[in-house]
Amino acid sequence: MKPATLARRVFLALACLSLVAACGPVATPVAVSPVSGLPLGTDGFPWWNDSVFYEIFVRSFYDTDGDGIGDLNGVIAKLDYLNDGDPATAADLGVAGIWLMPINPAVHYHGYDVTDYYAVNPDYGTADDFKRLMAEAHRRGIRVIVDFVLNHTSDQHPWFLQSQDRSSLYRDWYVWAESEPTGGGWRESASGDFYYGLFAEHMPDLNYRSPAVTAEMQSVARYWLDEMGVDGFRLDAAKHLVEQGAVQSNSELTHEWLRGFRAFYKSVNPEAMVVGEVFDGTVMAAKYAQGDELDLVFDFDLAKAMVFSVGMRNASKVNDVLPIDVKQFPAGQFAAFLTNHDQDRVMSALGDDVPRAKLAATLLLTSPGAPFIYYGEEIGMLGKKPDEDIRLPMQWTAEANGGFTTGTPWRDLNPDYVAKNVAAQSAASDSLLTHYRALIRIRNDHAALRVGESLTVESGNSSVFANLRAGGDELVLVVVNLSRESVSDYGLALESGPLAGEYVAAPILGGGGLATLITNGQGGFDDYKPLPALPAYSSLIIQLQSAP
Ligand code: CA
Repeated sequence: MKPATLARRVFLALACLSLVAACGPVATPVAVSPVSGLPLGTDGFPWWNDSVFYEIFVRSFYDTDGDGIGDLNGVIAKLDYLNDGDPATAADLGVAGIWLMPINPAVHYHGYDVTDYYAVNPDYGTADDFKRLMAEAHRRGIRVIVDFVLNHTSDQHPWFLQSQDRSSLYRDWYVWAESEPTGGGWRESASGDFYYGLFAEHMPDLNYRSPAVTAEMQSVARYWLDEMGVDGFRLDAAKHLVEQGAVQSNSELTHEWLRGFRAFYKSVNPEAMVVGEVFDGTVMAAKYAQGDELDLVFDFDLAKAMVFSVGMRNASKVNDVLPIDVKQFPAGQFAAFLTNHDQDRVMSALGDDVPRAKLAATLLLTSPGAPFIYYGEEIGMLGKKPDEDIRLPMQWTAEANGGFTTGTPWRDLNPDYVAKNVAAQSAASDSLLTHYRALIRIRNDHAALRVGESLTVESGNSSVFANLRAGGDELVLVVVNLSRESVSDYGLALESGPLAGEYVAAPILGGGGLATLITNGQGGFDDYKPLPALPAYSSLIIQLQSAP
């Protein structure tokens, strides 16, 4: 066990001695990996179920050399903001995972058109900077995964430039035709031949029917795992790897390729985690996360449902989607989020409304699965497409350019940084950032929220979301009033469940003076009202403690 982890357990135990009513059992300390020195998961779950992840666009996070472009040294400089490694301080966010959007050399600003898979984008720094980032992150208990853009390369990648020659050894690394095939995604090259590039002319698809391509991309994965020390990957466009005739996504050959890729990366590092972007409905996406392909996929349906329910002040959508989606995956093996770098930011979807942004955060950070936060979401940064505007520089302070750079930023910040920034929200106890910090600490402290089963609770009111998380030797009840009005016309009900007898309701977030819960004959409860009235736009998190 690392000293920081031990200190955390001792801290929790002492805090609980002085606050017996507010704390449940302290979970058994988790084992530590002999490979990374970092904690393994709770109750046999993998480590990623204990982590809240944070997605970073390096170009926009923090610039340390004044060129207006965020860099790896900037990520290092802000690690303490994410997690300072000291459980006794509450000034950090408390995340234990980072997803870096592409950091390889690329032609376009976003990095999703790679020109060299074995190097670091010189805009961002050097390989040594990256290794230092890994060491500094691990020292704080943070694991780092990197974007792996393997469906396609840049049209400026040397492999593609050579493959334009019909006699090149690289010819079959891409998908070529000498006359234009039917169907979408075909592009005409300068030579007059046609290549397949699903997303854009400058993004030719690699040909994964070629064993040489598979071998090369496995070699890339080994390089980042072994030489650079990453903890895993986020696979871009994972459903598009292999086309089979008219089937351009979710083909059987794509699934087969991913099974082979999993066997490979687990052989390099059994603890490595891969989360896939399968931009599709949950039933289709979940096929990739059944234990023999990807470790996790993002649940886009659940994300939409959370944002929609908060936006409409109506819990029906998330109440419908959550229990269905949870059943599609092995327990907890999906990634939850609100919005990512390809979507209008959640705060824009919610009309720049802080109370509702807090509710969305509560839904996300009490969700089963592994939650991912998109940088700036925790301070309510706005952003609507075009893409550049949903990836704007981070708003750190009220100083010039939000404290992001001393130079000219690669793209102008949203002018609301003067009022909306990390410094201002750190100082305000009722800020969105303070709410995110509190929720992540709560998740870190309560195993039921990380690895517990998710049991949807009927609320008897369409404005009220309720969910029971049961696991890790505790029961945690989440109650969210999505309405702008106080709600007294409600009653929580779980037809049957794992409960027995009476439970004292101890507040974890919100509330106080909560009613005792009395179970029904089926281990559930009927018409439970922890509070006579749920305040407008409120989040209530309760630990249910078996009454003596
Ligand atoms: Ca820079």
